[in-house]
Amino acid sequence: MVRISIVVGLVPLLASASPVPGDDFELSPGETFVDCLPTGKVPMVLQSSANFGQLASAYNLRLKPKPIVVTLPTTTTHISNTVKCAKKYRLKVSARGGGHSYSAQGLGGADGSVVIDLQNFHDVKYDPETALAEVGGGARLGNIARKLYDQAKRGIPHGTCPAVGMGHPGLGGFGISSRNWGLMVDQIVQVQVVTADGSLKIAKNNYNGDLFWALKGAAPSFGIITRFWFKTYAVPESIVNYSYRFQPGSVNEAVDAFMKIQTFARTAPKELGLGVSLWGSGVSFELSGAYYGKTQAQFNTLFQPLLRQLPAPASTTLDTRGWIDTLLRFAGSGTLSVPETGYNEHTTFYAKSLVTSNRAPIERKGMENFFNYAAQQGPGAANQGLPWFVIINLYGGGNSAITNPALLDQSSYGHRDTLWNFQFYTTMSNGFSPAGNTAAINFLTGFDKVVRRSGDFSYVNYADPTYSRSQAQRLYYGKQLTRLSLVKKKWDKDQVFWYPQSIDPAK
Ligand SMILES: Cc1cc2nc3c(=O)[nH]c(=O)nc-3n(C[C@H](O)[C@H](O)[C@H](O)COP(=O)(O)OP(=O)(O)OC[C@H]3O[C@@H](n4cnc5c(N)ncnc54)[C@H](O)[C@@H]3O)c2cc1C
Repeated sequence: MVRISIVVGLVPLLASASPVPGDDFELSPGETFVDCLPTGKVPMVLQSSANFGQLASAYNLRLKPKPIVVTLPTTTTHISNTVKCAKKYRLKVSARGGGHSYSAQGLGGADGSVVIDLQNFHDVKYDPETALAEVGGGARLGNIARKLYDQAKRGIPHGTCPAVGMGHPGLGGFGISSRNWGLMVDQIVQVQVVTADGSLKIAKNNYNGDLFWALKGAAPSFGIITRFWFKTYAVPESIVNYSYRFQPGSVNEAVDAFMKIQTFARTAPKELGLGVSLWGSGVSFELSGAYYGKTQAQFNTLFQPLLRQLPAPASTTLDTRGWIDTLLRFAGSGTLSVPETGYNEHTTFYAKSLVTSNRAPIERKGMENFFNYAAQQGPGAANQGLPWFVIINLYGGGNSAITNPALLDQSSYGHRDTLWNFQFYTTMSNGFSPAGNTAAINFLTGFDKVVRRSGDFSYVNYADPTYSRSQAQRLYYGKQLTRLSLVKKKWDKDQVFWYPQSIDPAK
């Protein structure tokens, strides 16, 4: 459990806080950020506290940004007061939700942030009148799914890992039911948010609409969302779960198979969730997903024409499961429930992503490069102790709900026009040595490079800290960036919500 110390003294390390770039603010002698907070009113843990190390550790231990303080608010007033004081002292502020950012953004992504840990804001309530779910800004996906199902057999499309928090919908949020219902960000109908001036606001389509638009896709640059209202769906209890493993005899066979899968995917109905994954062993791959249509017979009618064109699978799993069992399968876990406070799990990993356009399917040459790289570099990387995988998730194609053109202007999410989202991932159970770290970055950068074309993008929820600020902004937000910068100028021109890849205000 996290122990909370209520601190009313000085912040000893305040001088080490790095202010927002371009800052010309000077602290008044003798006065500190903590003095600014109403005495004893905001629970917080300072660098000098015994439990600071644990509370300020990222989920991804590869990165170690050091906040100046982690606050543990229990009320929205605590959050407002913290933001107001941070603004006064020109300190950068970061919300921590589930803490699962790939680049430790919940801890500010760089030294010197005031971190507002939202773990006490974890309630989940379904309202049968509106069919909306009211969810705290510090809730986690597994608990949301479990509670909505238990309360009313309702669900929301979202990602697989139960411990992921609300950064996920704030930046997109893809799950295996997303082609059917959309990304998690598409389900947000209203938020309660603390903005850069420390005030608590409601934002929705017809009220603070520009802020609402920006929060839906770039939330960490615009505010601390204390409460979300999500659209929910009556969950199907009969979902076809499938997995086919292939062991192609050559790169050429693997490429042939992928090109056929791509042709099929481009017109696949939205009820089909589909991904292609491969790992450490070269060109063997798995084609798996879930079908949200009605029956296994319907799935077979849809899928058999594709399977007939592919080599015989080395193994097949095909069954029908309920909503919760399907979530558990993709979570690879026995439970969806996660500790609501005091979560303390960690791992070490590096990942990259590549987002391709619906209008530009990957050419054969690109997939030849991809499978050649997997075949030639993959086993070596795995042997050097770099376990790796690539998951290529289908976002677009057919009548996918993710790429619905009507959603284009509804949120700042950068990539409505997506066919595939590649995630390249390495992990090291014992942590990365400096040499291992370099090897991981080089291996994945090479992987990404052999497929990437000019015009491809990257996914902000798989944040890659090796991108420069401008590279990240362009790759994550594409055409939305100009408007995002204008909204940033209006709502947070002093960049209270700053992190290495946050949105810059327009000049
Ligand atoms: C094991 C694992 C599995 C994953 N699976 C998927 C997947 O299936 N699909 C997918 O799309 N992504 C997936 N992700 C990526 C995940 O969506 C992102 O890492 C996400 O941003 C994490 O959110 P968080 O709240 O847990 O992390 P945090 O580090 O707490 O937050 C991430 C960012 O969001 C901000 N933030 C968090 N909460 C709020 C809030 N309430 N208001 C404003 N800003 C906030 C933080 O300041 C930070 O900038 C996975 C990640 C991991 C580690």
